[in-house]
Amino acid sequence: MELKQALEQLETLQKKLYAYQCASSSLYLDSVTVAPKDTAQGRGVALGILAGEQHKLFAGPEVGALLDVLGERGEELTFSQRRQVEELSRRWRQISRIPAQEYMEYARLTNEASDVWHKAKEGNDFAAFRPVLEQLVAFNRKFAGYYDPDKAPYDALLNEYERGVDTAYLDRFFAAVRDKLVPVIRAIGEREQPDDSFLYLEYPVQGQRELADYLMEVMGLDRAHCGLGETEHPFTLEFNNRDVRITTNYDEHNLASSLYSVIHEGGHARYELNIQDDIQYTCLAGGVSMGVHESQSRFYENLIGRSLPFVRAIFPKLQELFPAQLGKVTAEQFHRAVNRAQPSLIRIEADELTYCLHIMVRYEIEKQLIGGTLEVKDVPETWNRLYKEYLGVDVPDDTHGCLQDSHWSGGSFGYFPSYALGSAYGAQMLRNMEKEFDVWGPVGRGDLSQVSAWLKDKVHQYGGLLTPAQVVKNACGDFDPSVYTDYLVQKYSELYRL
Ligand code: ZN
Repeated sequence: MELKQALEQLETLQKKLYAYQCASSSLYLDSVTVAPKDTAQGRGVALGILAGEQHKLFAGPEVGALLDVLGERGEELTFSQRRQVEELSRRWRQISRIPAQEYMEYARLTNEASDVWHKAKEGNDFAAFRPVLEQLVAFNRKFAGYYDPDKAPYDALLNEYERGVDTAYLDRFFAAVRDKLVPVIRAIGEREQPDDSFLYLEYPVQGQRELADYLMEVMGLDRAHCGLGETEHPFTLEFNNRDVRITTNYDEHNLASSLYSVIHEGGHARYELNIQDDIQYTCLAGGVSMGVHESQSRFYENLIGRSLPFVRAIFPKLQELFPAQLGKVTAEQFHRAVNRAQPSLIRIEADELTYCLHIMVRYEIEKQLIGGTLEVKDVPETWNRLYKEYLGVDVPDDTHGCLQDSHWSGGSFGYFPSYALGSAYGAQMLRNMEKEFDVWGPVGRGDLSQVSAWLKDKVHQYGGLLTPAQVVKNACGDFDPSVYTDYLVQKYSELYRL
């Protein structure tokens, strides 16, 4: 085969895969936004077919042969083409090991599981979710062997979300985090908490919508290319670098919830919108890994969004929108309130300091579930025990316990640690930024352009062109969790005058 012809085939293949992805994503977006409640079944049929077609398109021997041809002529390819071939070859080896039947069954199962989980969570009924979770765990254990038969199953799954990360790496990381943070959390427990009651007054949705619009403007998110919708759980979904959708949830009695979810998802969107044009519609479009993605969202949410300079910058707008609720509050009081640290039950409402401990609970459970040393029936008990041990809180029921997150129902095992790693990467990026330019002067004026430009330059533009480890190295230097724990210890020592 001529090289030119092979490259054309490569491009066509990736565009077709992109089209299938768009179709599945559109159905998903519809299901969580405007679709009526009991419509999952028919959509499941369609999603199952789409997944099957996608599998057929990609997993066949012709694709393997094409990738082999291109792999052998690597020296004649551009860097981007070589990376595409590398990435697709890796995925092809994995996916071609999964029998088509299993692949489709799994797609159907995850679609159904989301519904079952929703109802189980609403009704505090773990027993209803248990059989589905057992199947999901069994599938993932099996898939782990397809992904990388040489790795322990949980390591193989972790590697899917963050290449190069395994349990040995995470055990070290979490141990460092626990050693440094637990004493601070204990010390804060003995301090007086700041008053944050004004965050829970009534905040009409209309005002919160205007606030979301304003925040997107501050983040430089062009509304012609980035939509904002409303869903129960906020998320970001990207079609390409000119079409990204984020969602939020407005709680009339919790101002910080939507405020920070818009900034968080906005951080994900900033990443996707900044990825270079040349790699669109290829397997390298999109953020490089979950950990790097979370480093961006949590960077904007916490390191910038919960800093005093940023709060001061947006506070006049908050007072303008909510004069009755915030008229007598100062920016400094608001800053203390949104940084209140207290061990709690719900991960997505957790503060920046205790957040990692929530992740550690899930990590321990996943490690044992996928490792085969914990049975699904014992998840609630283990969950409750670990919450008591790590956070010192009693879990009243499974709705506020092991049924709170959607990840497992979506088949995502190994995803949670990305949140913690992302937070740690972000802290290192901030430190490097501070060495290069004045971060806080402009941020204090509500100007995030330099911060965004730095992130675009070091992280965003590359998409999957570099590996996650290369991107982290590029932006952080050598990974050092103590930068993250030092940042937290210093921040909270100041806030609580420890
Ligand atoms: Zn996120």
